[in-house]
Amino acid sequence: MQPFWGRIEQAAMAEGGIGAEDALVVLALPREALWRLLDVTERVRNRFMGDAVRLCSIVNAKSGHCSEDCSFCSQSSRSEAEIPRFPLIDADSMVEAARSAKARGAREFSIVASGLSMRNREELEKVGDAVEKISGELGLETCVSLGTLPADKVEYLISRGLRSVHHNLETSRSFFPNVCTTHEYDQDVEAVRTAKMAGAWVCCGGIFGLGESDADRVELAMTLRELDVDSIPVNFLNPVEGTPAAGKRVLTPFACIKIIAMLRLVHPGREIIICGGREVNLRDLQCLMFPAGATGTMVGNYLTTSGRPGEEDQRMIADLGLSVRALCGTPAAPPRN
Ligand code: SF4
Repeated sequence: MQPFWGRIEQAAMAEGGIGAEDALVVLALPREALWRLLDVTERVRNRFMGDAVRLCSIVNAKSGHCSEDCSFCSQSSRSEAEIPRFPLIDADSMVEAARSAKARGAREFSIVASGLSMRNREELEKVGDAVEKISGELGLETCVSLGTLPADKVEYLISRGLRSVHHNLETSRSFFPNVCTTHEYDQDVEAVRTAKMAGAWVCCGGIFGLGESDADRVELAMTLRELDVDSIPVNFLNPVEGTPAAGKRVLTPFACIKIIAMLRLVHPGREIIICGGREVNLRDLQCLMFPAGATGTMVGNYLTTSGRPGEEDQRMIADLGLSVRALCGTPAAPPRN
């Protein structure tokens, strides 16, 4: 059999991506292998995705009071975290949040609401009004994260200018019962399939550091490949006081880098966007997320935790010789020297 490094590069460059066995080896690599690994992942990322970085931002449009019991989430039914709880904000406030995100460099903007699914017509129309303005007036790519939406609701939002639907699987099917007991994994899988069938670009990933094993991480990566998702958001647990996950930070920065690298090698031609928990989990290794294979990151605040100032991210991207992807339909800005 071909030696490991040549084999994984060839599999990734052939676009199909590495298999589960090699993905497990990547996650088990010792620290001495870091630069060798990054050498491969950076070449793969450059070949398929170029050197422009996608910056996304979100607004927490409806917070708390969720019926679900996801262990990591401060908005869940079993969370006692002190977070703001409010019903759906008005469309103008969503648009204002998008305007500020655009000023911070974001090119994609997502409207996020807590809850298993947004089925209320009035709420959905409010989101539709905001999507239309954010896409039409601000020129941002629009995304929503509204739970398990049925096809007609996705189609309605697409008719208002929506590009992407975000819905995470969170973790592997095998580990999911340890994370959430109020709905089935298949409901999430079905939501992803439905969004794709309805014509949306699908953004679907998970959260790492919940106590899952390397095998669970690889299982999730393979499920995402089966579902043919377009973009993979990667979150690292930032345990919030008052949630069952409180005090349970287990990931090292090196483990996070290997997770990103494994995802890049399994999904050579897909977006990998590093989202919540990157500052506290990657710490000083944050800039390595790009050579490891990330093609984007979230700027500004997360749902109930704070991010770092957007200028720091813009500087990190420029210092790496990368560029920020331009608005939809325009070429990427060249890197600054
Ligand atoms: S992750 Fe989503 S579904 Fe789960 S508790 Fe939080 S808001 Fe509810």
